[in-house]
Amino acid sequence: MSKVKNPLPVPTECRYCGAEVRLVTNDAIYDGRRYGKWPYAYLCQNSSCRAYVGVHPKTEIPLGTLANAELRKARNDCKPHFERLWRRDSPDAIFSSRDEAYRWLAGQLGIPASQCHWGWFELDMCELAAAICKEARGSGYGCRGL
Ligand SMILES: [Zn+2]
Repeated sequence: MSKVKNPLPVPTECRYCGAEVRLVTNDAIYDGRRYGKWPYAYLCQNSSCRAYVGVHPKTEIPLGTLANAELRKARNDCKPHFERLWRRDSPDAIFSSRDEAYRWLAGQLGIPASQCHWGWFELDMCELAAAICKEARGSGYGCRGL
């Protein structure tokens, strides 16, 4: 088992519709195909809801909170604004590590670093975090800029 800091509890009941949530292989989500080396996810069994979240590799620990389509899109759209602040191959990187970037983002958001994960963010947090990251880029924020 890999070590995961602050694991979230396994979802058993959908937070959107209250239906049962089960651990599935992700072919149940992606049209009959399995994706990734660890193709598991928690999926709401209500066919009109189908909120889901992936799991950490080699564990059954959810990557975040169960997300509907709108929230999954917000997480996917907003996270790249953060990724480009620390990824080594990013020309816009202002942090030298992911941990450093997360500590900074947590401080900006006013939340504990232990709760600062894209998979935990709700819609408003995704948008706020993305806006902060966009503003930071190129403004001299961060350790490389000091
Ligand atoms: Zn549901």
